[in-house]
Amino acid sequence: MTLRILLVEDDLTLRYTLQQALEIEGFVVDLADTLAGAKCVLSQYKNEQISMESCLLLVDLGLPDGDGADLINWSRAHAPMPVLVISARNDDSSKVDLLDAGADDYLVKPFSINELKARIRVALRRQTLSGSAVSEEFIFGSLEISLPRHQVLRDGVKVHLTPKEFKLLARLLRQAGQVVTHRQLLQDVWGPDCVDHVHYLRLYMAQLRGKLERDPTAPELLLTETGVGYRFCEI
Ligand code: CA
Repeated sequence: MTLRILLVEDDLTLRYTLQQALEIEGFVVDLADTLAGAKCVLSQYKNEQISMESCLLLVDLGLPDGDGADLINWSRAHAPMPVLVISARNDDSSKVDLLDAGADDYLVKPFSINELKARIRVALRRQTLSGSAVSEEFIFGSLEISLPRHQVLRDGVKVHLTPKEFKLLARLLRQAGQVVTHRQLLQDVWGPDCVDHVHYLRLYMAQLRGKLERDPTAPELLLTETGVGYRFCEI
């Protein structure tokens, strides 16, 4: 299957560098340097009935004719595909807004090509898996987690998790490799009335780390994305 990336970036040098790097990886790369240009390419995908399962949108926020974030909603409605945001903005609230608006992940400039490739892999895998049977059994080093059996083993020994701890772990695992915002976690684990109760997360993440991490003070699995949310890291 050909994997296609629409790269929307107005910085000529960065656009060229990313295009080269992604083409070497075997991606077909389409280019746009404005919002209007990107919408044009996305409409073309739709007209040519290109499978959105194999497409990804990589979009810069600061574009000459507007904010790249506008493409997140637009593409959801017209050409649904994973969206990775690349941005020079590093403030927590704009990252949270982007993720809550439906972006799959974000990268703050400057970022390494390897990091970009890793995020692309995660986003495309999720897209390919959505709708099909998503794996619900996970092995990370000495840790085995079965979501259907509600079971966690560490070195073969059962780890007791409370129902809320398990629900939180499962929510992060279903999006393993991607950041999940505080709001998304609180909404899905505790419900819509609790989306502002970030202290629940701090408490429960500390408990989970105590049970699952080799060294809870230096987590390797349950990573904090400061001011944004948490990410279950795949080793
Ligand atoms: Ca820009």
